[in-house]
Amino acid sequence: MGVLAFRQKNARGNFKPHLSVRFRDAGSKPCVFSIDTSRTPKKYSQPDAYLITHAHSDHHGKSSMLSELSVCSDKTATALEIRHGREYRGATAGTYDKINIGDVTVKTCPTGHTVGSTAFYWENDVGTRILVTGDVKDYSMLPSCDVLITEANYGDVGDFSCYFQDDIEGLKSILNNGGRAAFGAYSFGKAQRMVQLFRDMGYRGPIEMEDDTKELTEKLMDDPGDLVSLGESGKDGICLVPPWNLNRLPQDIPRYVITGRCDYPYPSIQISDHLDVNGLIDMVKAIDPQVTIVYHPGGHRPQCFAGYLNSIGKDSIAIGDINNVLSNEFT
Ligand SMILES: [Zn+2]
Repeated sequence: MGVLAFRQKNARGNFKPHLSVRFRDAGSKPCVFSIDTSRTPKKYSQPDAYLITHAHSDHHGKSSMLSELSVCSDKTATALEIRHGREYRGATAGTYDKINIGDVTVKTCPTGHTVGSTAFYWENDVGTRILVTGDVKDYSMLPSCDVLITEANYGDVGDFSCYFQDDIEGLKSILNNGGRAAFGAYSFGKAQRMVQLFRDMGYRGPIEMEDDTKELTEKLMDDPGDLVSLGESGKDGICLVPPWNLNRLPQDIPRYVITGRCDYPYPSIQISDHLDVNGLIDMVKAIDPQVTIVYHPGGHRPQCFAGYLNSIGKDSIAIGDINNVLSNEFT
């Protein structure tokens, strides 16, 4: 198929996060795209691009954003700059767009995981269609492909916690009760999802936030409505704070955590930024690749998901089983 997926080791002999793919462009020139991984030191051979699917820290944009070779969506670049206080040095595209990397035309497609999260799609010299998804909540905009490079955050068919549905009705019933309520949600990703849900459900009142969450939400969302600092909304406003800060709010505010976990001392509402395992399986069936490479997250779930895909006749390999390794000394 004209695609080599490989991993690099750093100078200490440890694997760099995630992987790189080598292929030839339409003019037969060799190209390397590194995916959601940290930078390679300048003294070593550089990839043609660092693709950053979104601004969560386990996708390593904090490092690769400092390279002029990085590529991500404009909103991911904004999120990285706010989160890390550094200037993004790479190239940007929209979330449903095209960008030329050398002679390769790369399409971006939204994955619905965070504001600005994008998949990347391109073809090599022999017409093999390659798609890198990053984390996915909504695969409806993703094209079919031949080589799918995707995630398995909830990819263990044998784990009860990998099956879930968003509890939209539960959230609605809390909102419909009226009055003050506080929700624990991470500042980047989950907080913007919650603001969108509140507005979609018809809530037009103020939403209180910590200042860093407020800055992210104001700069990343097109129409977030009235966002105010903590304590500024009067007695009927909604609060949105990171889960670990719920206990800092006044005791009389009803509190909920937006999570699938059950180890917080507050009632939880299941709203996820991810597909559950059934969603991941449906995504692979819909995209219908010849081979799937499961590259994220760390731990055992990529192997679990790849194993399941193979069992249903969908050829797959997990990142931990990729034996093409190049140390940083390669030239
Ligand atoms: Zn993520």
